[in-house]
Amino acid sequence: MPAYAAGMDAPGSTWKPDGDLIYRTDRYGGRVGILPATCRNGEHSLHTVGYRAHDSEGCLRIVCQACISHVPPRLNNYWALRLTEPTPPRAELDDSPYEELRRTLRSK
Ligand SMILES: [Zn+2]
Repeated sequence: MPAYAAGMDAPGSTWKPDGDLIYRTDRYGGRVGILPATCRNGEHSLHTVGYRAHDSEGCLRIVCQACISHVPPRLNNYWALRLTEPTPPRAELDDSPYEELRRTLRSK
């Protein structure tokens, strides 16, 4: 079982995050949050269409601007990644740390 699946089924909770936010440390020792570069539906590059990120209830939500502007809005228009550390001051887009997570979601 991957680490992000551990403890996700809290009693009384039906909603769960997609996984944990991945961090890296830059060469100055600052923390950088890594956000997926492709939207939750796998259709849009967030570099191209843009995204909004906000944290709520211990999770960072990364909303795809293309999916949310769709009429009606697409399902699964945001990633919900659990913040295992305080919200990082900076973020960058990179799909590579999330490849396993995306594979898991596609197989559902
Ligand atoms: Zn999208």
